[in-house]
Formats: sequence, C-alpha cells, structure tokens
Amino acid sequence: MLIDGKEISKKILKEISSDLHQISKNLGRKPALSIILIGNNPASETYVKAKIKACSEVGIEGNLIRFDINVDSKTLIDQIEKLNKKIDIDGILLQLPVPKNLNERELIEHINPLKDVDGLTAENIGLLNSGTPRFIPATPYGIMEIFNRIGVSLSGKKVVIIGRSNIVGRPLFSLMSGRGENSNSTVTLCHSYTKNLSEFTLNADIIIAATGSANILDGSMIKEGAIIIDVGINRLDDKSRKSGYRLIGDVDFETANKKASYITPVPGGVGPMTITMLMKNVCNAAKRDK
Ligand code: NAD
Repeated sequence: MLIDGKEISKKILKEISSDLHQISKNLGRKPALSIILIGNNPASETYVKAKIKACSEVGIEGNLIRFDINVDSKTLIDQIEKLNKKIDIDGILLQLPVPKNLNERELIEHINPLKDVDGLTAENIGLLNSGTPRFIPATPYGIMEIFNRIGVSLSGKKVVIIGRSNIVGRPLFSLMSGRGENSNSTVTLCHSYTKNLSEFTLNADIIIAATGSANILDGSMIKEGAIIIDVGINRLDDKSRKSGYRLIGDVDFETANKKASYITPVPGGVGPMTITMLMKNVCNAAKRDK
C-alpha cells in the first residue's frame, strides 16, 4: 500500500494550525523562523522555498537570510548570534550543506539550542540520544509520525536503516531503538562500508533508505510484506520535463512495490512530512522561554 505523505501532512498541518492560533495569541505575534542560506545550490533553493511557503500557509513568519557563497564564518557567526538574541525569533535553521570551505559543525554550535529547530546542536543530539529529545530532526520526526499515523507498532520489529548521517540515519536509529512510546525496535545501521547489504535487508520488517544513491534497494533485496520508507531524493535526467529532470528515491519503486506491505513514494512520501514536522518544531520552540 502506498503511504501518502501529502495526505498525512495535511492532517498534521490542520492540527498545528489550531495550536498556532493559540500560540500567536499568547505571544502577541506569529511564531518566527529564520533560515540562513549560503550560495545558491539548486536543491537547497528548492527546499528553502518549500519551507518558507509552508510557513506562510500555516501562519509562521518565515524569513530567509541569504549570503554569498564566499561569505566568511565570522559574518555567519555574527548573524547567528544576532538571531539568538532576538526575542521575536523562535527558530533558526542553517540550510545544509554549507560550502566546503566553512566548518558546518562550528556554525551549528553557535545556534542557541533552544532555537535549534533542526535538532543538530551537540546539546540537542545528546538529549535525543538520552531519550529526552528537545527537538527531533524533522525527517526522522516525520518518519516516526508516519508509523504512528498508519498504525504500525515498532516494538520488536527488525529494522534496517541505510545511511548514517546526522540528519537522518543516526537520529532515526536512536528513536527507533529507544524506549519511546512507539519504538523498541532492533535496529541495524548500514552505510557505504556495509558489505553485502542484502544479507541485512532480506531479514528486515522495516527498511529505511536514506543514502542519496538511486536504486540501492530493489525487490530482490526485501522480504515479502516489508515496510519500505524511501528518504532519498535523486535527480534523473528527463528531457520530457520542463525542468529537464525528475526526482526519484533510493529505492527501485516498481520491484519493491510488488513485495512491500507499505511503501513511500518519491516525491510525495517523506518530503512533505519533513516540512510539516519542521513547522511543528517551530511551534514547540515558540512555546518555550528562551
Ligand atoms: P548524506 O550524504 O549525509 O549521507 C548518506 C549516507 O548514505 C552515508 O551514511 C553513506 O554512508 C550512505 N550511503 C551512500 N551510498 C550508499 C550505498 N550505496 N550503500 C549504502 N550506504 C550508502 O545524506 P543525507 O543528508 O542523510 O541524505 C540522504 C538522502 O536523503 C539524500 O538523497 C537527501 O537528498 C535525502 N533527504 C531527503 C529528505 C526528505 O525530506 N525527503 C530529507 C533529508 C535528506
């Protein structure tokens, strides 16, 4: 069965809207998110545009702060510190990846952890890993919400996550293997050094592919009835499209769909959930004293 991320997102956004109404009333203003974008990487441009659009649709003040690709780290740190001090800014998001000459970790660590709606500062990673999350990174948050909304219990399930990044694989490992309300899975974290991926995936009840490598998983690598969550976003040349490309995931959808009990499409699966859960994190930030 296809998991319709757009439909689930719509429901959550509706819930957030009424929550937002109350938060705005209490604050005397809309909750506000500042997004810092360095350079003009086309994929980042698309994601940032979608985030700002979601903000305006749901009633969050979203503002984009752009920097030239050659910006130095002092300028960026000054900007982050300025946003940290502003009482009318609830969330700060540094759009990743940053250009290679900048130290991504150093920049992230300057964000006030109480405004770190991406959940990427060391403090927030630590809180998540110790089972008391403050902000759950939006993509893993969205995936956990998918399981809740389609009524899948994670307890005792064998899970394989492919990809070990700080924004997807690692936090998801922590959440799914943790003691949370719907978690307690047995999780294997695979990555580019994993040998014979099928050996792991063929035994899994749930597989999450988050690599950015198209077709790393196909129907021959999964067991009958497995749940497949495809996080990957890859551009495939397609001259029939105006843009010249179309988006595909990490999973070979045709063959995997024949065996999966549930599968997320790309686009329209995890992507909309990510944006929605970011909005939820901004709401949560706006409720806190900073
Ligand atoms: P990343 O490059 O930081 O990490 C990729 C991970 O995949 C690494 O741990 C690497 O070891 C692993 N990997 C790469 N190729 C592999 C292979 N052939 N076999 C096994 N492991 C392999 O990427 P990321 O930021 O985690 O993003 C992963 C993908 O998810 C990208 O396509 C990205 O665009 C997409 N993404 C989508 C959303 C969304 O909302 N849908 C959100 C975040 C990321």
